[in-house]
Amino acid sequence: MNDKIPLAGLPLDELEEALSPAPAFRARQVFRWIAGGAESFDQMSNLSEEMRRELDGRFLVRQTKVVRRFESGDGSLKLQIELADGARIETMALRDGAKRRTACLSTQSGCAMACVFCKTGALRLSRNLSSAEIVEQALHLKDAVSALSNIVFMGMGEPLLNLDALRRAIAVLTGGGGGGGEGGGARAAKAAFSTRRITVSTCGVVKGILSLAEEGPAVRLAVSLTTADEALRRRLMPVAAEANPLPALKDALKRHQAQHTKRITLEAVILGGVNTRTADIEALKAFAEGLDVLINAIPWNPVDGARFEGKPLCAPSGAEIARFAAALERAGLKTVVRRSKGARIAGACGQLGAPTPVDAPDLGRPGAPG
Ligand code: SAH
Repeated sequence: MNDKIPLAGLPLDELEEALSPAPAFRARQVFRWIAGGAESFDQMSNLSEEMRRELDGRFLVRQTKVVRRFESGDGSLKLQIELADGARIETMALRDGAKRRTACLSTQSGCAMACVFCKTGALRLSRNLSSAEIVEQALHLKDAVSALSNIVFMGMGEPLLNLDALRRAIAVLTGGGGGGGEGGGARAAKAAFSTRRITVSTCGVVKGILSLAEEGPAVRLAVSLTTADEALRRRLMPVAAEANPLPALKDALKRHQAQHTKRITLEAVILGGVNTRTADIEALKAFAEGLDVLINAIPWNPVDGARFEGKPLCAPSGAEIARFAAALERAGLKTVVRRSKGARIAGACGQLGAPTPVDAPDLGRPGAPG
């Protein structure tokens, strides 16, 4: 393993510190190069050769590498990325319409939450990702699709259980380095994300939501509610059982909304015959009252071997999806049904995780993104 520090994960202030005694403008130049896609110090043409050599001796630009890439006919792209310790994670770029490209980033290798319907949940947690490992996913995706319009932290893992690295990664992604100016400047300035285009999705970790409410960053929030029937939710999502009951979750969301005044997305994965009952609709309606929310209904994407209380889970039929969505609308809940993207490359919601699907075409060459 390489013990050089990867610079891609450092927010500008930390980068200035790492590069000191070099003056701050040098750190801004390096920051812009990295955000603009540079993969080596050699490319940083506005630094002296001596400085480039010196940086190369102490630091890495990026620490991770793309080992496989999968493309699906709907314009989705999944990258398998190898971390410095050999572990592999997955990251996605989804296409929404002609222009919109959404990066779906992972924050942990595996996940400790064990939601019964999710493939990553079955993997158990290996470890938190560092901010470099998070930021580099966006850089690799950008290499491949050239521009990203939105970022969602909806990949592998629970972002709010890796809050430090998440915050630093968001600081890097929104940092931009002041824009304009020398080398890589224009590209890097464009690469800086507004927090309005970043969404953090949580399974409902109350402490983490409160922390975001109080200390920011003011990103958009999505909550994987699944159902607002507490008893059923506890059976589907172990996270709900102990420290995160629905009333506490709702209070946290109210707090978040009071601080950041942004509509919150409630994600409801539709599990055929399980969480589309009248009781679920009534419970959702009661939960949403007093909040500004959009319901995102996500038809369950099959995960091998996923069972709920002894029975295999099944995808909802088109009729069940339509009936559920219509009932939510009738209850006054603004609802969007999310069309499945990337399912053919096992990159749709809840399908991220090792091992590599054998039925997916491998279109990539190792180490050659783009
Ligand atoms: N831990 C975070 C982020 C990862 S899950 C969270 O829970 O929000 C991202 C979304 O995928 C969640 O809304 C979850 O409900 C959904 N999901 C998980 N497994 C799924 C599956 N098999 N099919 C469809 N959606 C799924």
